[in-house]
Amino acid sequence: MKLLRFKEKFTDILKQGYPLQEVNSFFNLLTEEILGMSRLHVALDPEKEISESEQQKLEDALQRLQEHEPIQYILGETEFFGLTFKVDKNVLIPRPETEELVEWILSDVKNLQQKEIRILDIGTGSGCIAISLGKNLPSAKVTAIDISEGALEMAKRNADFNNVNVEFIQQDILEAEALDSNYDIIVSNPPYVRELEKKEMQANVLNNEPAGALYVKDEDPLAFYRKITELATKNIKKGGSLYFEINQYLGEETKALLTNNYFTASLKKDIFGNDRMLKGEIKK
Ligand code: GLN
Repeated sequence: MKLLRFKEKFTDILKQGYPLQEVNSFFNLLTEEILGMSRLHVALDPEKEISESEQQKLEDALQRLQEHEPIQYILGETEFFGLTFKVDKNVLIPRPETEELVEWILSDVKNLQQKEIRILDIGTGSGCIAISLGKNLPSAKVTAIDISEGALEMAKRNADFNNVNVEFIQQDILEAEALDSNYDIIVSNPPYVRELEKKEMQANVLNNEPAGALYVKDEDPLAFYRKITELATKNIKKGGSLYFEINQYLGEETKALLTNNYFTASLKKDIFGNDRMLKGEIKK
């Protein structure tokens, strides 16, 4: 089959479920990944014949896109903070808001002037926060916790792939009595989406991304924040800081957890103008 013919079919089918610009971007990403052809390459070679096995791979991807599977899972990777991260359904796809959290931490740490800082990432998922911090702070010692074995496997692959040394621990943070050590920085992007917010979410997220990384009980949406704040109160070093990604509708409530627990706290908005990040500095 000619590549151009396949493109017509691909576009006809997907334009019913996605904006055309997105369909084009999917096509470019897939031809790059499956055929090793850049967009320019494709444009310059309209008569290009694709092999049966290439066509099969493209058809599989088309099918998965029709079912609204995220393109990052289909490609098996995504970009975060200038690094490549492998992803599959065991891990949440790293979000741009979370890059802003990493940015915030790095800009604070640069002022810290301290060499061997210890960092803990709770609920690491793909490892995106822990690994990008480790990459940018080569003298830091980074530890990352997750409850999910599948997520930890992926995070380890990502740490190796990006050549960053991270210590991984499998643990249910809600059951922890104390952390394994004292830290300068504790960071977490825990689950924070309530039932009532599911209606704002797109089908690709709802039907594909790991529920354990996203959703919390409506009765106690701040359970992770409360537990992590308690643990941090015990296990954060003097002058240390706690950073959270938060539910945009619960900014003040989440902040209050910190200010009631020996922290001074500040909220920060993301590029979309939503309360998305919270920093606590320990007063002791
Ligand atoms: N921001 C993510 C979303 O809306 C949620 C991330 C999280 O629950 N920690 O899909």
